[in-house]
Amino acid sequence: MRRAIYPGSFDPITNGHLDIIDRATMIFDELIIAITSSTSKKGMFSLDERLSMIESIVEDNKKIKVIIFEGLLIDFAKNYQSSIIIRGLRVLSDFEYEFKMALMNRSLDSNINTLFMMPHEKYTHISSSLVKEVTLLGGNVSQYVPQIVQNKLLQKVKNN
Ligand code: ADP
Repeated sequence: MRRAIYPGSFDPITNGHLDIIDRATMIFDELIIAITSSTSKKGMFSLDERLSMIESIVEDNKKIKVIIFEGLLIDFAKNYQSSIIIRGLRVLSDFEYEFKMALMNRSLDSNINTLFMMPHEKYTHISSSLVKEVTLLGGNVSQYVPQIVQNKLLQKVKNN
């Protein structure tokens, strides 16, 4: 059983994340989407809101599990008996941070390997933060996120 972990803030999940998820599930038997709160970014959605959005989007794919976690990723990986971390690389500017993170995780646990995947070109400029910003400013993000995410984004803006 080949299992991989795709960790991230997913605040909220975008079509770019989903593109990586599709590619990863073609390679692995099981993919755990591990939602974590970022220490540096203030979230728009609670972890539970992110979980329920993702669960409803991926419910038809039996290879996927969605789990919230706090703490060190290598501990989470050990708990779930996986040594593969999936990360998406969009543009060169992602590289430096991802490179340091991958090496840090591997130096904390030498069994851990990070696998980088590139999304389709049409998603390389999409990020959760940009999608939030565009929505807050009144722009339409329907081509970048699933319908359910767009509805939740609009609800948040309305309630603010
Ligand atoms: P984090 O705060 O851990 O970076 P994100 O939710 O922003 O969490 O991203 C999780 C992972 O998904 C990261 O590896 C990031 O590079 C990747 N990712 C984010 N947006 C995209 C996208 N549009 N296409 C491909 N990968 C992406």
